[in-house]
Amino acid sequence: AAKEAGRGTWRRFQMSMQTQAESRFALEGELRKALDNQQLSLYLQPKTNGDGVIYGAEVLVRWEHPEKGLIYPDFFIPLAEDTGLIIALGEWVLKETLLLMQDNPQLTFAVNISPREFRNTDFVNRLRRLLDETGADPKRLTLELTEGLLITDFTKSYKRMLNLQQLGISFSIDDFGTGYSSLSYLKRLPINELKIDRSFVKNLPQDSSDALLVETMMAVAKHLELLVVAEGVETKEQQEYLYSIGCTLHQGYYYGKPEPAKLLLARIKEQQANTD
Ligand code: C2E
Ligand code: MG
Ligand code: MG
Ligand code: MG
Repeated sequence: AAKEAGRGTWRRFQMSMQTQAESRFALEGELRKALDNQQLSLYLQPKTNGDGVIYGAEVLVRWEHPEKGLIYPDFFIPLAEDTGLIIALGEWVLKETLLLMQDNPQLTFAVNISPREFRNTDFVNRLRRLLDETGADPKRLTLELTEGLLITDFTKSYKRMLNLQQLGISFSIDDFGTGYSSLSYLKRLPINELKIDRSFVKNLPQDSSDALLVETMMAVAKHLELLVVAEGVETKEQQEYLYSIGCTLHQGYYYGKPEPAKLLLARIKEQQANTD
């Protein structure tokens, strides 16, 4: 009987593998269509300075699926990476962002770039072309890259970053502290900013080892003259603690969740009109 049960489990396993493969395949096709049919949309999450003023935003893509509703990037970006669709998707995100930048000349915009996208040999040229086409100001564009991406293929990343830096673009290390263990790359690459991963911020200020790690990151950043953004700031206590150790650039639900680009930008315009 045990053998029978085992076989049954195996069959179910095989079948679920098959359905998974099929649904993945179906999803890939749907994602391809989503790009063509304008089902992807840009959400923005505010980045605030020490006065609590919004100085910029991170661009976070969403898939507005006609039946399944809102689908989050952690689900479809890996799929896009695996299939190569990330090249077209990433270009779409960049182009839409540059168009938003033109309409909102006072804000900086940060765009996430996946490894496969950044490693594409045509990446620099395509971005240069998009900048030309849109006339957007590269000085207000930051690319968020992850540590792992920069370490693998260090020399190529370095050259690519220099080319982009020459255009006026800045670089931020996303999810800082979760990836690579050596810090030497920080001084060898043209990096402007570190984003402290939200896992270090979550239990502040109570967790003393997280507090120590964040303070150490601040010291490293100060020494290397890098900006620091704390991700995932959710409470007043976290805000105050971070301010107290000199970390004044924040992003997190405490200030605002990601929302459709047009909504956040309209709110910022309204605020600016009120303070003028
Ligand atoms: P990320 O770049 O580290 O973005 C931050 C994530 O943390 C976002 O999740 C954001 O909604 C979430 N977050 C922000 N503040 C808080 C907070 O206070 N509490 C909590 N619990 N979460 C917070 P999201 O939008 O689901 O994006 C997930 C990841 O998907 C991003 O992580 C980024 O790596 C990737 N991604 C998003 N948009 C794009 C894109 O256009 N291209 C590429 N290649 N990747 C993207
Ligand atoms: Mg990011
Ligand atoms: Mg992050
Ligand atoms: Mg992340």
